[in-house]
Amino acid sequence: MAGYLLARAAVPVIVLEKHADFFRDFRGDTIHPSTLELMYELGLLDEFLKQPHQELRELRAVVNGQTVPIADFTKLPTHCKFIAFMPQWDFLNFLSTNAKGFPSFQLLMQHEVVDLTFDQQRVTGVRAKTPRGELEIRADLVIGADGRHSVIQERAGLERQEFGVAIDVLWMRISKKETDPQQTLGFFQQGKLLVLLDRGDYWQCGFVIPKGGFDAIKARGLQQLHKDIVSFAGFLRDRVAQLDDWSEIKLLTVQINRLRDWCRDGLLCIGDSAHAMSPAGGVGINLAIQDAVATANLLAGKLRTGPVSVDDLRKLQARREWPTRLIQAMQVFVHRHVVTGQTSRRKDSLPFVVRLLKWFPILRQIPARFIGIGPRPEHICSRGR
Ligand SMILES: Cc1cc2nc3c(=O)[nH]c(=O)nc-3n(C[C@H](O)[C@H](O)[C@H](O)COP(=O)(O)OP(=O)(O)OC[C@H]3O[C@@H](n4cnc5c(N)ncnc54)[C@H](O)[C@@H]3O)c2cc1C
Repeated sequence: MAGYLLARAAVPVIVLEKHADFFRDFRGDTIHPSTLELMYELGLLDEFLKQPHQELRELRAVVNGQTVPIADFTKLPTHCKFIAFMPQWDFLNFLSTNAKGFPSFQLLMQHEVVDLTFDQQRVTGVRAKTPRGELEIRADLVIGADGRHSVIQERAGLERQEFGVAIDVLWMRISKKETDPQQTLGFFQQGKLLVLLDRGDYWQCGFVIPKGGFDAIKARGLQQLHKDIVSFAGFLRDRVAQLDDWSEIKLLTVQINRLRDWCRDGLLCIGDSAHAMSPAGGVGINLAIQDAVATANLLAGKLRTGPVSVDDLRKLQARREWPTRLIQAMQVFVHRHVVTGQTSRRKDSLPFVVRLLKWFPILRQIPARFIGIGPRPEHICSRGR
């Protein structure tokens, strides 16, 4: 997104992607109303909505066996009053195809950044591994948007604060039937959670487990895991045995962390590279996009004519840090008190907050706003050429 917006503002951009395609199935699929609003502002919305996707207007969860409404997106002050579910690779293919229309945009696939280059303390570019050997690329600004295991962040020596998360996620696919519930669902049970993302002909399942607990789950055997899944979503009973080998079940480690400084001379980190997000609330993709928009808004004008100063880069951190802190605080709270991966001792079938949401529909607009738009939504201010 940062590459798209900077190229749109006539800044020469090279995006390096280490893989040959964007096909990673270990990420969420949520495109929130705030991101759809950005698509509208860019004049891309109609085309975007032609891509295969599902629209979720109300978020419901099954809490200890009872279906309860959690968030109502239909009253949001945005053009799209829904979350669009679209696999991340479709979203990235759409963005990069559109970006290729800008003469100053270049996307280099199978280019893995392995190191930074320096002139004294200033970052001057990157070294990348390519199918044709190693390559050095010089740049006025290197933007680290390389996710949770960021090489750029590490090579830049930026200090990271970790916020312990006691859960991991098992990620697997189970086929879908027409008779299945239509909505993408979260099933909560006494501190545990199964999430089902609708990917057309299959469910992408995320099953929360205690951190480090995968070996114990393996030791109990596949049949026990089948039983656990069915105890959340009974309609999967006739198919859960499709998971007949541990190789079909991926362990995703969940982290929440944040850099103290998101930048140094010649370098800026954004998205998960600056602040790794957990899946809680499904907001990480959108937060990363908000960072990208703010980056283009603040820096495109200056980058058109040359390097930017560290003070310019610090302004980006100052703008995006508090929304990030707020959302991460929510995620840490959820992992400590709501979804812990361990069976909780609380016996109440519906937590008090969930009861309130059930009784007073107007309250469902609060989580809708927090999840769907988030604190300090960004708008496109960088100029197109
Ligand atoms: C299990 C799980 C489920 C989640 N579900 C959701 C959800 O439903 N909704 C949501 O909004 N968020 C979700 N999140 C969080 C979300 O995935 C991240 O916050 C979001 O993907 C961050 O975007 P990003 O662009 O910063 O990084 P990424 O999406 O990680 O993208 C980084 C990109 O950089 C590339 N790359 C990495 N290293 C290099 C390198 N050295 N050289 C070149 N390229 C490189 C990668 O291949 C990748 O394409 C989930 C997270 C987890 C762990």
